[in-house]
Amino acid sequence: GKVTVKELANKLDISTNELIGKLIGIGIMANINQELDEDTTELIASEYGFEIREAKTLEERQEEELDFEDSEENLVLRPPVVTVMGHVDHGKTSLLDSIRESHVTQREAGGITQHIGASTVNINGNKIVFLDTPGHEAFTSMRARGAQVTDVAILVVAADDGVMPQTIEAINHAKAANVPIIVAINKMDKPEANPDRVKQELTEHGLVPEDWGGDVITVPVSAIKKEGLDELLEMILLVSEMSELKANPNRKAVGTIIEAELDKGRGPVATVLIQKGTLRIGDSIIAGTASGRVRAMIDSYGKRVKKASPSTAVEILGLSEVPQAGDKLFAAKDDKKARELADQRKEQIKRDQIKSKQNISLDDLFDQIKTGEVKDLNIIIKADVQGSIEAVKDALVKLSNEEVKVNPIHGGVGAITESDIMLATASNAIVIGFNVRPTTSATNLAERELVDVRTYRIIYKAIEDIENAIKGMLEPEY
Ligand code: GDP
Repeated sequence: GKVTVKELANKLDISTNELIGKLIGIGIMANINQELDEDTTELIASEYGFEIREAKTLEERQEEELDFEDSEENLVLRPPVVTVMGHVDHGKTSLLDSIRESHVTQREAGGITQHIGASTVNINGNKIVFLDTPGHEAFTSMRARGAQVTDVAILVVAADDGVMPQTIEAINHAKAANVPIIVAINKMDKPEANPDRVKQELTEHGLVPEDWGGDVITVPVSAIKKEGLDELLEMILLVSEMSELKANPNRKAVGTIIEAELDKGRGPVATVLIQKGTLRIGDSIIAGTASGRVRAMIDSYGKRVKKASPSTAVEILGLSEVPQAGDKLFAAKDDKKARELADQRKEQIKRDQIKSKQNISLDDLFDQIKTGEVKDLNIIIKADVQGSIEAVKDALVKLSNEEVKVNPIHGGVGAITESDIMLATASNAIVIGFNVRPTTSATNLAERELVDVRTYRIIYKAIEDIENAIKGMLEPEY
């Protein structure tokens, strides 16, 4: 993140004047509220013998508290978690359905498998977990949130259609995530099926099949005829054995939310994939800004369970609100701790929202106009006499052009007060004073909330400044 001159001076424990002097020395004219770019900050800091490190985010600090690295001797093998990807209509959904129908053992007679966002498949006494939402969009939106849950990607390519745009996207997404790919060449039952053409096209995209001298496993299948499914599942086990997937089941649970919704009768319901440890009924948990205690857990067979170990997906009840897919879930020491951490996250989000809303300043107005971020320039005018306010209002409104509308939202006689700053904060405005000054508390609040406050003795100077800011010609203030 960027720091202002004032913040940097504070951190370096020098006066702002000294810092501004330093900056002039390297050709930068900055005022005390100006943000410095990262190179400049680093250069100045190093002159004072400091090194710049990105501060840890709240979530990172909390995760250090909730999570820890397991030692090797506590790790045991866990089942692989698989995502199915590929071009639209190549048979992703059909393949998942066929695997579920033929390989999910129904625990109770007549038991219906429940949709909870993941299914567990049994093959030769081994388990494989399939995430039920096919496609690389879900995969990548989770990854964008820092969650990586997939161990193996199944790339479905229709034998009659070959490598298509979304096939290539899926390949690139899996590669970027460093997830091994197994290719299922689907629709082999079709007379037009041409697996050799598929292999040729895969090779062109950097996936060289084993029988062509490469290291990518390809399996011919027919989702509709349920053919080749055992071979595909065995290959998944083979690939995951090579990856030595392990986790420690004997510790507090860590997992990732893969689906969540508000259920009318049951409240917030979330499916969590457990990645480390064991989650139990009664555990205090936090996921995103939600916290609570596990009231009930339901597995993919629709059965209530008391605990869930690594690579198990369970639906959980008991969260205070609906978390987002991709949120990490942690078991915490107790309810109080979980709630406290979730509250801290909520506060942080509020602060971030306020911050991102309130950084309008004349200095960067032009950039914001250019990027379309600003269409209205809201202005609050304070002056010693009513006549000045009216004169300024009229002159400022005339500065409006096609890109930006100058908008006086408030005018008043007297000093600039805290309430003016709060209004500026709420409406993303700048504050202009004529022959009046801000009170001390208003100055402090403006600094905290990053409100641009400018005071003038002559009206035309203010008009000139705003005109120049709109044109991108504002002289730096120093
Ligand atoms: P998705 O968009 O990748 O999830 O594809 P779907 O599973 O919805 O399948 C698209 C179409 O292809 C459907 O009409 C399926 O019936 C058909 N399809 C899927 N797998 C096979 C297969 O193995 N053989 C044949 N002949 N058709 C298939």
